[in-house]
Amino acid sequence: MQTIHNYDFSGKKALIRVDFNVPLNENFEITDDTRIQAALPTIKKVLEEGGSPVIMSHFGRPKSGPEDKFSMRHLVGHLSKLLGVEVKLAPDCVGEEVKKMAAALKTGEVMMLENLRFHKGEEKGDEEFAKQLAENGDCWINDAFGTAHRAHASTAVIAKFFPNDKMFGYLIESEVKSLDKVVKDPKRPLTAIMGGAKVSSKITIIENLLSSVDNLILGGGMTYTFVKANGGEVGNSICETDFLDTARNIEKLAKEKGVNLIVATDVLAADDFSENANTKILPANEIPKGWQGLDAGPESIAKFKEVIENSATILWNGPVGVFEIDKFAEGSKAVGEAIVKATEKGAFSLVGGGDSVACVNKFGLADGMSYISTAGGALLEYLEGRVLPGVAAVRGE
Ligand code: AMP
Repeated sequence: MQTIHNYDFSGKKALIRVDFNVPLNENFEITDDTRIQAALPTIKKVLEEGGSPVIMSHFGRPKSGPEDKFSMRHLVGHLSKLLGVEVKLAPDCVGEEVKKMAAALKTGEVMMLENLRFHKGEEKGDEEFAKQLAENGDCWINDAFGTAHRAHASTAVIAKFFPNDKMFGYLIESEVKSLDKVVKDPKRPLTAIMGGAKVSSKITIIENLLSSVDNLILGGGMTYTFVKANGGEVGNSICETDFLDTARNIEKLAKEKGVNLIVATDVLAADDFSENANTKILPANEIPKGWQGLDAGPESIAKFKEVIENSATILWNGPVGVFEIDKFAEGSKAVGEAIVKATEKGAFSLVGGGDSVACVNKFGLADGMSYISTAGGALLEYLEGRVLPGVAAVRGE
């Protein structure tokens, strides 16, 4: 299999699918360029090896055809600055003129195609559209993990036009490698910490993880659905009464599989969802009306920490409390710190999902994690055990 490490790029036009779906302010200025920064190593590799990058991405959600506010022209200047090379913008992403522009690119020159989603064929995964895109390059590099769970023209279908010239970029390669350290052959014990607001959005992942983890810590708002399912009083805590059977089933499955399932036994309860609330520590199953559990209590935090610090592989998705409010951030902070400690001792730790990443950043713990994934939907689908079309296409599966 060709890889970005062994492929000979000299004199080649390399079509690179990136995820440049960055936020802009009202003056069309980029407010967070993380995704562009993340794609630079791959683009630079092609340049250093004597190739010409032809960059393509979706950007925003144009409804039907070209819209100026979703034009890649808002991004070209910034990319040019970061690369130190003037990036040429194509008038479209397919067609004769674009093909000619791509063919005329000289070594060291960079071109960006116009927004892929200006054409319906992109999201439809249209083969003819994919073929036209493919005409703009000699090889295809997929470096957009964020869209790897979509079978779109540029992320998957295009692969068939490059049977011997397709590969992952650095970003997607490291995402997949890191995820596989958790999903495929983890060092044990493997502990997953799943938090966030609701069980309902995470059932498939939890069920899938039960086949592989040794310890599963379920925290955050999910706690109260489990407590209620066991006959506890949860007061005004967030609780999904339609999912009590699901919670019981998860507990049953955990028992069958020999998974150590850990749910908070005490909580920090508050009489209001705010920084000014009165708070007290309560048993998780004795929360009176008018009170709601918004963070794990000290006994539970101690248990979480002990399990995490004795783990060899750790996956963290979702805060175990309302970390956005300082008063209810203690549990999530403690989880983050325990992961850092375990990582220092040699564990592999992966944090993913928007809220946990925000949480890790809030407490300045990012450097202490082995890998932070920013992939969102694609990450969750991988953890659910699904095949990602953008990954399978490169591997020829
Ligand atoms: P999710 O998007 O499902 O990962 O949920 C993340 C959100 O869950 C965060 O914004 C947290 O503030 C929230 N959350 C965590 N614990 C609780 C709780 N006990 N009650 C209400 N919301 C919570």
